[in-house]
Amino acid sequence: MEIVIVSDGLDYYIEKMLIRSGLAHLDFFANALKLNENTLHVKFPFYDLLDCKSCGNCKTYHMEKYKADGYYVVYVGNGFSDRCPSEYADMVFAKGELLRYCRKNGVESTSFENFRDVERELLKRFVLNGE
Ligand SMILES: [Zn+2]
Repeated sequence: MEIVIVSDGLDYYIEKMLIRSGLAHLDFFANALKLNENTLHVKFPFYDLLDCKSCGNCKTYHMEKYKADGYYVVYVGNGFSDRCPSEYADMVFAKGELLRYCRKNGVESTSFENFRDVERELLKRFVLNGE
């Protein structure tokens, strides 16, 4: 199982959070923050790559690359920028705003509170029941 982080946040603090959590080995795709002396520069290298106008970093773009490589994509999200990929993932775990969006728009999803819930459900569906 490969875990990839996609975020509409900024690489600057995501990388620090991953290192602090002992997860620096995980790949991630996010918007870019560059510090030049006293100036901040934000770049959106993955904006609008799929003609999607709702994402700064279109998570669907990254997900589609994995799907093209044959991955079964389990998507875990909670916010506005997760709406786009939730429509295309093979399986969706949702909470908060994303869960309300999925329920309102008929996007099949499983609610979760934390990553332990996700792990437990994946084990149940794909390991214990052999799906
Ligand atoms: Zn998008």
